[in-house]
Amino acid sequence: MAVVGRIYNTVEFRSTWKESFATEHQSNMLTIDGSHREGGGQILRTSLSLSMCRHQPFRIINIRAARRQPGLRPQHLAAVRAAATIAGAKVDGDTIGSRALTFAPGEIQSGAYRFDIGTAGSTTLVLQTVLPALLTAAGSSHLTLTGGTHNPLAPPFEFLQRAFVPLINRMGAKLAVRLDRPGYFPAGGGLLDVRIEPAAQLAPLHLPERGAVHAIRAWATVANLPEHIARRELAVLKERLDLASDDLRAHIEQEAAGPGNVVTVEAACEHITEVFTGFGERGVRAETVSERLAHRVQRYLAAEVAVGEHLADQLLVPMALAGEGAFLTLKLSRHALTNIDVIRSFMDIGIEQHEVAPDRWRVVLQSLR
Ligand code: ATP
Repeated sequence: MAVVGRIYNTVEFRSTWKESFATEHQSNMLTIDGSHREGGGQILRTSLSLSMCRHQPFRIINIRAARRQPGLRPQHLAAVRAAATIAGAKVDGDTIGSRALTFAPGEIQSGAYRFDIGTAGSTTLVLQTVLPALLTAAGSSHLTLTGGTHNPLAPPFEFLQRAFVPLINRMGAKLAVRLDRPGYFPAGGGLLDVRIEPAAQLAPLHLPERGAVHAIRAWATVANLPEHIARRELAVLKERLDLASDDLRAHIEQEAAGPGNVVTVEAACEHITEVFTGFGERGVRAETVSERLAHRVQRYLAAEVAVGEHLADQLLVPMALAGEGAFLTLKLSRHALTNIDVIRSFMDIGIEQHEVAPDRWRVVLQSLR
């Protein structure tokens, strides 16, 4: 296609925005405004990750100002406590509902840790908060996290295991995740086991193309719900994505504490594996769950990119810590744009995006030091 490679649009995130969003005081304390752009919990989580890695104290105000229930919810508080434990940090404002927090990290201590969110809050988001520091810590770590493992609006376990972890491992660390018990919203009670062998320095990762699509597989899981839900979801995916019967699996989960329904599609490509997830909801037909999911998979396939919407925002922190990286992706989400702003406030890194075709963007990270 003639349009490939042509630059439609270039956006560079310059340091000028930094003055309004992040302010550095004489005490070396960075102030982050949690109401910036998306105004959600990712601003806090990325700030915690980078504060730990860069030994940079920060204060965050207006935490999750754009959310219906602003301030720290149990998942965010669990992320703060986990980060504080691992970094031996001094923390002020770590209570449920708090809209301002100060975090001053000490030395990162690798080792064995157990973190219990206490609700169905996402274990994978708590993991991603502390992971960057543990990926380059002095020794290996073993984490056990209790809470949600399959939450709408968070990385589900299969995405973490099959899409995210292999890419982190390509950067030189050895990360292994195991699902000991699934935890669905709202019951929670899931158990995630994580082992981390760090790398002295993360290696740059470049994902310029996905290559040939080798296989597309789908599986639907029901826990404490009728099996026909899974069968109906798979029937829609079979038809919409033109899948073979051998590439469909229905799974009845016996271990979960409460009801749950998750549909997963994996696109195994030459250079990357992407994972897409749909969640059953009360009042939403099983067919609708799969139609929405198929639509997202079709968008990814049609755009011929390597990295999908969610991986894009999650690769930014590891790539920034590696000092460089690049990937071909869909138009960046507001979530990713917000994450870029937070990263730029903690690090001297150039992050550029170029539109090379409709819905196809090349993102390039390069250290400015
Ligand atoms: P809150 O303020 O409630 O914490 P948030 O803004 O922090 O919300 P979201 O924007 O909902 O959180 O997303 C959190 C993270 O979960 C993002 O990194 C996003 O990419 C990831 N995520 C959400 N849904 C999926 C999914 N289906 N697959 C993989 N990752 C996902």
